[in-house]
Amino acid sequence: MVLFWDQFLVGKYNINSLNTLYLKILNQRLVYNLFTIFEGIPLSFKTLNLSPKLLKTLKSIGYTTPSEIQKKSIPLLLKGKDILATSQTGTGKTASFVIPILENIQENRAIKVGDERYKINALILAPTRELVLQIHNKVEEYGKEFSHKSVALYGGIKLGSQIKAIRAGANIAVGTTARVLDHIKNGSLNLSELEIVVLDEADKMLEMGFIDDIRLILSQLPEKRQSIMFSATFPKPIISLAKSFLKHPVTIEIDPLNLSTQQVKQLVNYVNEEEKSPLLCKLINDNNWTQVLVFTNTKLQANRIVDALKANKIEASAIHGDKSQGMRLEALKSFKDKTIRVLVATDIAGRGIDIINLPYVINYELPLNNEDYIHRVGRTGRAGQKGEAISLVCKKEIDKLKEIETLINKKLEAMTTEDFSYEPHIKASNRKSKKEDKKKGVDLKKAKALAEKMMGKKGMEEKISNKKRKRGGEKPTNKRHF
Ligand code: AMP
Repeated sequence: MVLFWDQFLVGKYNINSLNTLYLKILNQRLVYNLFTIFEGIPLSFKTLNLSPKLLKTLKSIGYTTPSEIQKKSIPLLLKGKDILATSQTGTGKTASFVIPILENIQENRAIKVGDERYKINALILAPTRELVLQIHNKVEEYGKEFSHKSVALYGGIKLGSQIKAIRAGANIAVGTTARVLDHIKNGSLNLSELEIVVLDEADKMLEMGFIDDIRLILSQLPEKRQSIMFSATFPKPIISLAKSFLKHPVTIEIDPLNLSTQQVKQLVNYVNEEEKSPLLCKLINDNNWTQVLVFTNTKLQANRIVDALKANKIEASAIHGDKSQGMRLEALKSFKDKTIRVLVATDIAGRGIDIINLPYVINYELPLNNEDYIHRVGRTGRAGQKGEAISLVCKKEIDKLKEIETLINKKLEAMTTEDFSYEPHIKASNRKSKKEDKKKGVDLKKAKALAEKMMGKKGMEEKISNKKRKRGGEKPTNKRHF
């Protein structure tokens, strides 16, 4: 082959340029061969320039391959760059900023005295207590070979124990904005020598109205620092925050659909609104599911679902903003150790739920904010595991479903559950009589009884008579029916 090249080219080039060309070709082939040899072999953490102690920890917890976001952000953050990233939860984003923080900040050599005790080196801000605790746990897990100390700062408990932890030499703080401000005002947290700051789920923080708190905290930081921002979406306020907060940031975009389209099987079960609760019970019981995370839009609905599940002897707890921190932690713990089968969460409370191998997520209702669909689905299928997310969709949610399908660029596969689902071509409003319903296997009596328990008899009667009225009046169509 080489000879052929030589003979072929000799007439056109002198011998020197031929040699140069020949060497170039050889080099290109070598590079190409190296690429083909390594293509398909996943990058290991060793190639990311991490310290031996961090590599040891990652090995011990079973992380062999960095995720997409880790591959992209760790090298940049180790070099001290600012980044603006769009990675979703479930993609390994926590490690992508915690690992460089652990590596970049100085380990405490001397014991701090006086006011020095309140100075920290890294601050991670997150929107919810659950997320704060989850990140804090990861800092401790990934940092177990380091002498760094981390403290979780969140409301619902007294400042005292947190102040004690800061004074004991914490150099990394993970906190909610409100509690971090409490500590700053109290004089128990000093950010004047901060080296690294992270805003995690910045869009969520803004959505929750924390922008003023964030700006107040940022005003306390030294000019010279490394800043990292994660946000799922980029509305105007986020862009303006990013402009003032980050310096020459590198933007990293991880396909938000990666997790929801690849690892998680996403299904939709069309169902009448009032039959959602009995359908949920049936799905859990018939399939013997032992760990199901159910999402709903309101605290009231979360409590109602828990009551309905309990009435069906399915152990369940709710986790939402009206529950005390102790109750939320207890519910999470019982869910993780499988003492209860179902955890019903609102979107905000559900953000921090990180359960390895969580197999099922149910969207009892589609989220008010379409982006939250991705966050909900991302609770399962974590770290490359498989998972299933089922959305219970009633007629009034069809438009929302379409919006979500557009967002994730995927049409959800329809599933049917005996007694509860309707074939797309059969209109529920056309189901003629109770007798016919029975023949089709719909146990309306059972559904009504369960729903009554959940909603209070009066409301239920109203719903059922409305339904009857509708049944009489609506024209059949060949779209999705309920
Ligand atoms: P996160 O997106 O940070 O909430 O992480 C989602 C889950 O993935 C967590 O349970 C992490 O422990 C896990 N995880 C993160 N990075 C890796 C990795 N490189 N290999 C395996 N699991 C990981």
